[in-house]
Amino acid sequence: MTKIVPVLIALLLWGPAAAQSAETEKIFHCPTHPEVRQEVPGICPACGMKLVPVAP
Ligand SMILES: [Zn+2]
Repeated sequence: MTKIVPVLIALLLWGPAAAQSAETEKIFHCPTHPEVRQEVPGICPACGMKLVPVAP
């Protein structure tokens, strides 16, 4: 029984942390201007198109 507790704690700590890092590492870019990249959604300064998330 006591051997299970550390595993549960590790899952609780690592689960949300992994999901959070995946969220913050998302990059948005313009489909027609791949050089335009930023970490938040927005509008391409070159053509005005909506930036889309880069596929992993
Ligand atoms: Zn563009």
